[in-house]
Amino acid sequence: MEKLILIKYGEMTTKKGNRQFFIKMLLKNINNKLNGLNYSITNDNVRMYINCIDNEYDEVISRLKDVCGIHSFSCCYKCISELGEIKDTVLTIMTKKSFKTFKCETNRADKKFEMPSMEVSRLVGSHILKNIDNIKVDVHNPDVEIKIDIRYDGTYIYFDEIKALGGYPVGTLGKGLLMISGGIDSPVAGFLSQKRGMEIECIYFDSPPHTSIEALNKVESLIGKLTNYQVNIKLHIIPFTKIQEEIYKNVNPTYLITIMRRMMYRISERVAHEVGADVLVNGENVGQVASQTLKSLACINSVVKIPIIRPVVCFDKLEIIEIAKKIKTYNISILPFEDCCTIFVPKHPVINPEIDKCINQENLIDFEALINDAILNRTIKTIKYNDKKYEDIL
Ligand code: ATP
Ligand code: MG
Repeated sequence: MEKLILIKYGEMTTKKGNRQFFIKMLLKNINNKLNGLNYSITNDNVRMYINCIDNEYDEVISRLKDVCGIHSFSCCYKCISELGEIKDTVLTIMTKKSFKTFKCETNRADKKFEMPSMEVSRLVGSHILKNIDNIKVDVHNPDVEIKIDIRYDGTYIYFDEIKALGGYPVGTLGKGLLMISGGIDSPVAGFLSQKRGMEIECIYFDSPPHTSIEALNKVESLIGKLTNYQVNIKLHIIPFTKIQEEIYKNVNPTYLITIMRRMMYRISERVAHEVGADVLVNGENVGQVASQTLKSLACINSVVKIPIIRPVVCFDKLEIIEIAKKIKTYNISILPFEDCCTIFVPKHPVINPEIDKCINQENLIDFEALINDAILNRTIKTIKYNDKKYEDIL
């Protein structure tokens, strides 16, 4: 008998026309995630089987837990499709388990196998009852449910399904550019978009010396956590100091944040087009701060045409925090390094900004040239899965 990990695809199997594309992408993502381990994969239209060496079994499972597009996985054993073999295999596995009640459920995909499913379940069940003491069948609420799947290439025997991440394989939906700050919201927004199948690149606005190198390190280690879902993530670091200082010099303090964010959007849109991203993604959340009233969002949004995805827009902070803890970004996000939004915060930011007033004030700045410069002088880094350097920050 062969020990395997059975993977079921779940939601993605509903995408009938694109199924092959989805499966190929999932396969590629799994291979990327398991790189360096000893394993092989076989797959058909509805599931995958991973064969790995015994002492890496737990490591494989723990890496698969973060692969988007996997619905569930289970510990699975394969034997030839012959009743005696099936009975013996099931018995060998069951003698190692501790349980009081069980149930067998058979699926016969291979119609050439002559015995009906119910009969297989019954015969395997009585073989177990005969050979293991003090156990009984419980069809409603068994301790162990034995699934026997008779397929053309052999019979697969598996047990509890472990729920996986779900969603779609990263990359199946195209690319989004994530505006990432050091806060709690944007990494969560990034994760949620990856889970829906988006590949992400990240953009960060850096304002040295007003913001510290620690703030940048923090962003990089947040992205490090997102590489659990996508093994390589590019980060575009935009030198934002000059633009911020120009805004500070020329703009009415109440409009500082609004205009700063309009500049961020303009730059992000341009970078998105350059890197082939179809949307921007950010962690905006209605009502959370002055720049996130509906009027503010509309005023900021009006400078770009590119669609903006805001995965956490209507979440409560506590809901966002819950996800941040699950994806292990929370403890990094709460480190106290200030980002460029927090250092220039005016006492009374406008909550109903007017577009005309923004335009008039922006005309005092040669912002096109500044934007070009910032984009041209950006630094691009690739953050890779399992790079220990990003764990040092904690
Ligand atoms: P977060 O918790 O993600 O920092 P926030 O609640 O602090 O969000 P803002 O500071 O208003 O809200 O920022 C809103 C969104 O704008 C962020 O979620 C992020 O997507 C983007 N953003 C803010 N600052 C930066 C930055 N320095 N670089 C890139 N994107 C940024
Ligand atoms: Mg912030």
